[in-house]
Amino acid sequence: MGETVLALRDITRSYVSGDETLHVLRGVNLELRAGETVALVAPSGTGKSTLLHIAGLLDHPDGGVIEIAGRDAGRFPDKDQTAIRCSEIGFVYQFHHLLAEFTARENVALPQMIAGTKPAAARRRAEELLGLFGLGHRLNHLPGKLSGGEQQRVAIARALANAPSVLLADEPTGNLDVGTADIVFEELLRVVRSAGVGALIATHNEELAARMDRVVTLRDGMLVEG
Ligand code: ADP
Ligand code: MG
Repeated sequence: MGETVLALRDITRSYVSGDETLHVLRGVNLELRAGETVALVAPSGTGKSTLLHIAGLLDHPDGGVIEIAGRDAGRFPDKDQTAIRCSEIGFVYQFHHLLAEFTARENVALPQMIAGTKPAAARRRAEELLGLFGLGHRLNHLPGKLSGGEQQRVAIARALANAPSVLLADEPTGNLDVGTADIVFEELLRVVRSAGVGALIATHNEELAARMDRVVTLRDGMLVEG
């Protein structure tokens, strides 16, 4: 296992609604290494999505440190957070959120072009990545013409397009039927491991979680080995 790609130290986050304060994260600590896959398994409402959004610099914690690829990214100004999110973090949601009017290849090429990759090289990498997910024959398909499993594979390929150090996934196969979820998850783990990406993946599925290197859970707002 490689160097630490994501470190969370004493992360806190509460939500205020009316005169009530909900302390969701009360001091979360985590080290994720290159090539390591970590399952985040915890009941609904315990703060999995909150934690993933904070780790992905999509939401700010109340306190604590977020280090990404060895840099103190939590303290970066917004513009630099956007840049490091683009180059070092891939995010996968339960719903694919692909751009409907763009093909599978374009969906995977676009984030690379935003990061400054030339279109031809971005298209080539998109084809290569989609090929790893068995979608070499679906390059020119619009998302609406793909099955649920294929859409989610494209979303995963897109998240890996800029060769991030960290992949964050929030119940990435939660919308798929059991059989498809199993296959897509296996492919995800295979690609992530071979690329040396550190992955933190929230899932409700204990069987899928057991295939990962480590399982953590949220208890009283803190992360403990599950
Ligand atoms: P999980 O992903 O484990 O289901 P979440 O991180 O979505 O948990 O939510 C954790 C808790 O925080 C829940 O009780 C949820 O209702 C609450 N919560 C999440 N987002 C907000 C918000 N924007 N405002 C107020 N409460 C929120
Ligand atoms: Mg959630």
